[in-house]
Amino acid sequence: MTDRYAVVGNPITHSKSPQIHMAFAAQTGQDIDYGKLESPIDGFAATANAFRVQGGLGLNVTVPFKLDALAYADEAGEAARLCGAANALKFEGERVLAENFDGLGLCRDVVHNLGHRLSGQRVLILGAGGATRGMLLPFLAQQPASLVIANRSLDKAQELVELAAAHGDAQACGYEDLGNDVFDLVFNATSASLFGQTLPIPHSIYAPDALAYDLVYGKGLTPFLKEAQVAGVRHIADGVGMLVEQAAEAFAWWRGLRPATEAVIRELTVPLV
Ligand code: NDP
Repeated sequence: MTDRYAVVGNPITHSKSPQIHMAFAAQTGQDIDYGKLESPIDGFAATANAFRVQGGLGLNVTVPFKLDALAYADEAGEAARLCGAANALKFEGERVLAENFDGLGLCRDVVHNLGHRLSGQRVLILGAGGATRGMLLPFLAQQPASLVIANRSLDKAQELVELAAAHGDAQACGYEDLGNDVFDLVFNATSASLFGQTLPIPHSIYAPDALAYDLVYGKGLTPFLKEAQVAGVRHIADGVGMLVEQAAEAFAWWRGLRPATEAVIRELTVPLV
C-alpha cells in the first residue's frame, strides 16, 4: 500500500518538497505519495487531523505553521523544543512526534556538501527569526570558536543567546557593532534577500577563505552574496542544499533510510550569477 506524506503551509504552491521527496522515493524504491496541503491560517490542527484520518503518516511543515506543529505534537526532539517550532511531524498511531531539521540540514550542507568546518570557526549569523532559532542547537553542537548573532532588533538576538545558553556560548549584537571582528562563516538568515534588500554590514567582517551563505534559495546571486563577492569572498552558497538536506533528514526519520542528496540539489540549483 502506498504511504502518504505531505507538506503543509499557506501559501504552498511554490513548495519544492513534493519534487524532492518523490525523487528520494524513486531513488530508494519507497512506495510513497507526497502532496501539498494548503491549510487555513487558523486551521492547522483540523488540516493535520483530516490528513491523519485519511491515513497520512507524516507532514513537513512550512510558514506560518511551524509553531502550531510543535503545539500539535505529543513529543518533540530537542532542536524543536529549543527553537519552539517543528518542521516535521510523524504520526505513529495516536502519537504525534515533532522534529526540526532545518539547522541540521544546514550543518550537513556546510560540512558535507560544501566542505567547510563549523568546529573551531568564527561564525556570524545575521537575523534572529525562526531559521536562526533552528540553527542554535546543531551549530553549538559543532563547537565553533565563537557564535555571534547580529540582528536589526537587538532584543531578539539577545533572546536567542539566552535561549541557547544551556548549550553553549553565543553573543548578540546589532549591525552597527560589526566591523571589529572577522568571521570564517557568515550566514544570512534574514528574509532581506526575499525582497532584494541589502544588509548594512561592512566588507571587513570576512576572514580570508570565508564562506558567505544565504539561506534563501532559488534567487540566484542575492544582494548579500553580491556584496560578499565585492568584499572578495570566493566561497558563496545559497540555501538550496539546506532545503534538500532537511528534507533528507525527514525522509530518513519517516522511512528509516537516508537518500543521497547530490543529484536533487543539482536539479534544484539556480546558478549564483
Ligand atoms: P523570520 O520572519 O522568522 O525572521 C526574519 C529575520 O529577518 C528577522 O531577524 C528580521 O529582523 C530580519 N529581517 C527581515 N528584513 C530585514 C531587513 N530588510 N534588514 C535586516 N533584517 C531583516 O524568517 P525565517 O527565519 O523563517 O527565514 C529567514 C530566511 O531563511 C528566509 O529568507 C527564508 O527563506 C530562509 N529559510 C531557508 C530555509 C531553507 O531550507 N533553505 C529554511 C528556512 C528559512 P527583525 O527581527 O529585526 O525584524
